[in-house]
Amino acid sequence: MKIDIFGMFVDEIALTIQPYGIPKYSAVQIAKWMYQHGIYDFNNMTNLSKKHRTILVEHCIINTVSTQAIEQSSDGKTSKYLLKFNDGMAVETVLMRQPYGNSVCVSTQVGCAMGCVFCASTLNGVIRNLTGGEILAQVLYINNLLKQEQTTVNTIVIMGSGEPLANYDNVLKFIRLCHEEYSLHLSYRSITLSTSGLVPEMDKLATEGLPVTLSISLHASNNELRSQLMPINSRYSLPEVMAAGDNYAKQTGRRVTYEYILIADFNDKVEHAQQLAILMRGRLANVNLIPVNPVIERGLLRPDSKRVQQFEQTLLKKGINVTVRREMGTDIRAACGQLRQKVLNKAPEVR
Ligand code: SAH
Repeated sequence: MKIDIFGMFVDEIALTIQPYGIPKYSAVQIAKWMYQHGIYDFNNMTNLSKKHRTILVEHCIINTVSTQAIEQSSDGKTSKYLLKFNDGMAVETVLMRQPYGNSVCVSTQVGCAMGCVFCASTLNGVIRNLTGGEILAQVLYINNLLKQEQTTVNTIVIMGSGEPLANYDNVLKFIRLCHEEYSLHLSYRSITLSTSGLVPEMDKLATEGLPVTLSISLHASNNELRSQLMPINSRYSLPEVMAAGDNYAKQTGRRVTYEYILIADFNDKVEHAQQLAILMRGRLANVNLIPVNPVIERGLLRPDSKRVQQFEQTLLKKGINVTVRREMGTDIRAACGQLRQKVLNKAPEVR
């Protein structure tokens, strides 16, 4: 069995290659070839000796991802990729060309266990966690594409399929790898992690000294409403999740974002906006309103734009920092799990 070195830190690569007589400094060279230059064939790592390249080919392998499907939005700004790993499992990765730079949305699990009623990723439960390397491979896939346009990945959002805090160690490894100088050298601040609200892991993340932006999927203005959308709310209630958000803001000094999906005739009334404003008052927080990507099977529809504006205005008048998420990629099923469902060619089961 060859050792897969993709997703290893330099120290780990060094430990792997030393027994074969390859010097420690070559670990940095190898890491740069993989993570910065997109070279996955040892034979093309030209600053290593021929002898060492042959040894590496014999004992090691670099497993990344291959393309299973691609969809482009009609405006060309959003591209969605279904990327396949070695074992045939595939996840979705999205490139969003924003005015402020290129943003990549990565998946952290194949499927998801959280069971949120509006989300396509969770329809068949969770199949497995992704490793840190498999999450990084998604970003590097996009980075390699962008290089052809002389540009690069600027920000990362951990908002694809899966609950990142349910795959804590691998996700943390991924975040640290993105920050390494021999890799993407991204600042922690340019990485956003979105969670459905796993309180113990949120508290743990606050102690790691990684000032990533935390985004919390709130989606409701009171506990009872949230329970109807998100089964996890029976384990960690809305007030507990918000207390963990406050703790994160306090420990890291970072403003927390609360995501709020707007669903027609469910959580989109003025009274909900007023309730939400009271929840947000005095907190180091932003609200991000997301008109839902419709899930027809479940009767979840998007409110009309007047309703969305009214909701936003009600929050603004109360002095809450609020933005409405720019529509991106609705025409290509950019909502979580929708492309994967299509390719798996299974009619989404409605629970
Ligand atoms: N499990 C994490 C991250 C993945 S979901 C979380 O819950 O935050 C990323 C974001 O997409 C979440 O805010 C999620 O609620 C949202 N999302 C899922 N399905 C959606 C849909 N149909 N329309 C709009 N947003 C959706």
